[in-house]
Amino acid sequence: MNVINCTHCGQLILTTPSKLCASCLTKEHQEVQKVKQYMAENPRASYMEVVHSTGVSIQTVRSLIS
Ligand SMILES: [Zn+2]
Repeated sequence: MNVINCTHCGQLILTTPSKLCASCLTKEHQEVQKVKQYMAENPRASYMEVVHSTGVSIQTVRSLIS
């Protein structure tokens, strides 16, 4: 079994495909849903508008949009 640090908070965890601990994974899922919902409601919103309006990190929004 491999042990790694969560790439988000640094907590020591057993390795997972996402390289995130359970709490960061849950948080990321919530942020993904928030971004998807915002983009469905505002299809013409720019990338920066999505970041500012949802409060989700640039990296997460970028991974969803690109
Ligand atoms: Zn974490």
